[in-house]
Amino acid sequence: MQASRAIIHLDNFRYNMEAARSKAGKKVCLPVKADAYGHGALSISRIAIEAGAEYLGVATVGEGLELRAGGITAPILLFAQALPEEIPSIVSAGLSPFISDPEFAQMLDSGAEQLNKKGKVHLKIDSGMGRNGCRPEAAADLAGKIVNCRNLILEGTATHLSVSDSENDDDMAYTKEQLCKFNDAISSIRDAGLDPGIVHAANSGGLVFHEDSYFDMIRPGIFCYGYSPSDKLLPAKPVMELRSNVTVIKQVKKGEAISYGRTYITPEDTFIGIIPLGYSDGLSRRLSGDHLVKIGEDRYPIVGRICMDQCMLNLGPGTKVKRGDEVTIFGPGYTDLNDLSAKLNTIPNDLACAISKRVVRVYKD
Ligand SMILES: *Cc1c(COP(=O)(O)O)cnc(C)c1O
Repeated sequence: MQASRAIIHLDNFRYNMEAARSKAGKKVCLPVKADAYGHGALSISRIAIEAGAEYLGVATVGEGLELRAGGITAPILLFAQALPEEIPSIVSAGLSPFISDPEFAQMLDSGAEQLNKKGKVHLKIDSGMGRNGCRPEAAADLAGKIVNCRNLILEGTATHLSVSDSENDDDMAYTKEQLCKFNDAISSIRDAGLDPGIVHAANSGGLVFHEDSYFDMIRPGIFCYGYSPSDKLLPAKPVMELRSNVTVIKQVKKGEAISYGRTYITPEDTFIGIIPLGYSDGLSRRLSGDHLVKIGEDRYPIVGRICMDQCMLNLGPGTKVKRGDEVTIFGPGYTDLNDLSAKLNTIPNDLACAISKRVVRVYKD
């Protein structure tokens, strides 16, 4: 096998899913968009369903089709708005899109009629995320229009929370306001004599900080992949570990330039190790000269610029590292994506999704 690989710790994934399920005591929709946040959508979907997830969530029609082609028969929610030309694929694959407006509902209805199928949909309400979803006051009207479409089934009603992962007072209050608008919209649907179906709102932040966001189903993504918005309230265990091997060790003299841009000059005679992992694999170029990897029990710095496909380590004079030695870049028990994302001023989701297809995923129980 090639050197650079992402070890996916399934025991940790199952632990996180069970923690989410038992905390909420509701149905679980596992978001597997973006290749399950870089963890491999098909494998993770299979395991999530075994572990009790009732629904899966994707962002694009292509992601849904990939799961269907892989034999996944569970219901799949389509979170992001697709183009009208994708409707035949949505209907034939039996994906359940979020519906934000009556026009798309009508187009989907005709698409379903043409294929002689019924399409399940979830009505999406924008309670303050400022993304897809109808205005809360338009929800009852949209629900009525969906119910009147002969080929559509209103299976659920959802909203999405924008700051539920923040403990800041203002953000807490904003989430309460979102939930209040959502509750009012749900009531207006019921008052119109209609059934909103499965009601859902909670992402990972909702799961951890807002019990009043659980309704009938939760949609925790990053929590299940091992990053909790509060390890104090509800801890999660990181699932992905990035590993490689030292494929070259070379001796260099003091004063030699390492990698593009000559940003690193060796301060003494030393050994340089090379690992076949670069920014195209998802190792951010911004970590150049700013990250320690782990080999055995020791730490070694990445020195010089991270290249597209390789990077260099200073193994020190008289190093005991040998060709082939295993290198951990991040993972449970070592530095994790919380540490790296703080350094890079981003979030763990961003870094996990960035680990590219070229890095082999190895599933470990
Ligand atoms: C991505 C996404 C989620 C999961 O969000 P996390 O913050 O990773 O828990 C839930 N619902 C929708 C609609 C999403 O797009």
